[in-house]
Amino acid sequence: MYFARYSGEHLCDEHFRASVEKRVRRELRKQGPFLREARVAVALSGGKDSVVTLRLLHEALGANPRIHLSAVTIDEGIASYRPPSVEAAARHCKELGIEHHVLSYEETAGVTMDKMVANPLRTLAPCAYCGVLRRRNLNEAAKRVRATHLATGHNLDDYAQSILMNHLRGDTERLARMGPHRPERVQPGLIPRVLPLRLIPEKEVALYAILRGWEFHDGECPYSVEATRGRFRDLLLDLEEKEPGTRHALVAGYDRLAPLLHSGSALRACDACGEPTSGARCRACVLVEGVGGRMPA
Ligand code: SF4
Ligand code: ZN
Repeated sequence: MYFARYSGEHLCDEHFRASVEKRVRRELRKQGPFLREARVAVALSGGKDSVVTLRLLHEALGANPRIHLSAVTIDEGIASYRPPSVEAAARHCKELGIEHHVLSYEETAGVTMDKMVANPLRTLAPCAYCGVLRRRNLNEAAKRVRATHLATGHNLDDYAQSILMNHLRGDTERLARMGPHRPERVQPGLIPRVLPLRLIPEKEVALYAILRGWEFHDGECPYSVEATRGRFRDLLLDLEEKEPGTRHALVAGYDRLAPLLHSGSALRACDACGEPTSGARCRACVLVEGVGGRMPA
């Protein structure tokens, strides 16, 4: 029996599964594009969130001839962490008959995360580089499979953390750019995001994957100890413990705010690599050049 403190519900296995599926389908309808023709690339790391996203989208949309599903996996080049998850991702795609594209940082930025971390010129925490390169790679990989939408596995905890982080940093630009991207919020050069799991708590995603018997990679990145996001995760979990429903409230508040938020600066092509950016040079170019590399144009 599963007890959801935020809603006060006690659910048996069967009703828990049905509840997750219902919430995901409702969220998909709300985010819209699937009702029409679309080519959806799923960002598939091989972890629980992305595996559940891929398989639920396949169940919900796989039979729809107007929807094409593919999967893209980003290989950061972390030897002790990424290879088994890339293999898990490939196995799911093979089993479902889904096209799978892997794109590495080595290919797009000429550097692996292992090399980046060892670089004496590095001044920031590993995740500061990795997050920027991952966003870039995901967008590039989605373009390569001609996707009209990119589905990511962000769960409720991830999504609420991002909202809180952006609020606490006063970063209204990032708040305005957060997905899901409805048609009026699509930015040139960026594949719009859909987030089917954004209302499902992380614990529920893991439980759901286990109940369905879906294999997923459960390793931890060796560089995650330096991640600042961890502080926001702990803060939110503490708030949720004391005030159940805090994460949902943050998202509901953001949804009311989002239509009023406008990105202050229009995107333009980066002077160095041509990718969309709000300044003269994109963040990926600035970071990679800072450690002596160069993003390919
Ligand atoms: Fe990259 Fe940081 Fe995630 Fe590791 S924890 S994969 S370095 S963003
Ligand atoms: Zn650039």
